[in-house]
Amino acid sequence: MEIEKAAELGFCTGVRRAIDILERATHKLGPLQTLGPVVHNQQVMERLAESGVKVAESLDQLEGNILAISSHGVSPKVLEQIKDHGLQIVDTTCPFVRRAQVAAWKLASAGFFLIIFGEESHPEVQGVLGFAKGKGLATLELPKFDKLPRQIGILSQTTQSFSGFAHFVSSFVDSHLGLVSELRIVNTICDATRKRQQAALEVAKRVDLMLVVGSRHSANTQRLAELCSAIVETYHIERAREIDPSWFRNRRRLGVTAGASTPDEVIDEVMAKLKDEQ
Ligand code: SF4
Repeated sequence: MEIEKAAELGFCTGVRRAIDILERATHKLGPLQTLGPVVHNQQVMERLAESGVKVAESLDQLEGNILAISSHGVSPKVLEQIKDHGLQIVDTTCPFVRRAQVAAWKLASAGFFLIIFGEESHPEVQGVLGFAKGKGLATLELPKFDKLPRQIGILSQTTQSFSGFAHFVSSFVDSHLGLVSELRIVNTICDATRKRQQAALEVAKRVDLMLVVGSRHSANTQRLAELCSAIVETYHIERAREIDPSWFRNRRRLGVTAGASTPDEVIDEVMAKLKDEQ
C-alpha cells in the first residue's frame, strides 16, 4: 500500500503563533488561564497545561488575574467585560480572524446588515458577529427575512470550504439580488484553510482511501473530512490507536491529511502506525 501525505497539513501559522505567545507569556508572567480552549485540540491543550495554561469556560471561573484570548478571538462586548474585571490580557487572536472582525466592523459601520456563512455557535463566529453592532446573523443555510435589509454584507467563517461559501453566495445572489440595493462580499476564508483544503482534495483524487487526522471539535478538520468524503472513502481520526487495519483490505493507495490544530507528533504517530500496517 502506498501512502501519500498532503503537501500542506497540520499546524497553521495562527495556531503556532497562539502557542508561542502562550508559552512566552507563561515563562514571563507565570500560570494563566484562557477563555475557552485556545485551539480545538486536546493534545495541544494538555501540553499547554504542563506549562501552566489552564482553561476557564467563563469569566466567573477565573482564578488569577491574567486571561488569554484564544486564536478564535472575542467580541467587543466580551473584551469590555474582561477589561471590567481588571484582568491582564494575553491576546492570541489569529490575524486572519482579526481581518474578519475588521471586515464585519467596517460593513456594520457603513450601514450594512452582516451575514456570516458559518456555524452560529462557534467561538470565532460569535466573536465576529459581535463586531456587527447587533445587525447581523450567522448561518450555513440561506436566511429568511421578514423584511430584507437594503444593504447586505456577506463574509465567511475563516475555516469554511471555498466551494461551500461560493455556493452560498451564488444562491443568495440568485434569490435576493433583485431585492437589495447593495451587496458586498468579503472572502474571509484563511490562507491556511485554503491551502490545506486544496492539498487534501488533490490527494483524495489519487487514492482509494483518505485519513483525516485531528480533533472532532476542530471546524477546519471537520471541513477537510467533509470535502474528502465527497471524493473517496474517508475516516476522521483523532489518534493513531483509532486506526482499524480492516480499512486497508484491498486498498492500493492511501492519503493522509490533518487539520490546522493537529500537532506534528500526532501526525507522526499516525504515519508510523500506517507504515507498520503496510
Ligand atoms: S485555521 Fe486559519 S484562521 Fe484559524 S488559526 Fe489557523 S490560520 Fe488562523
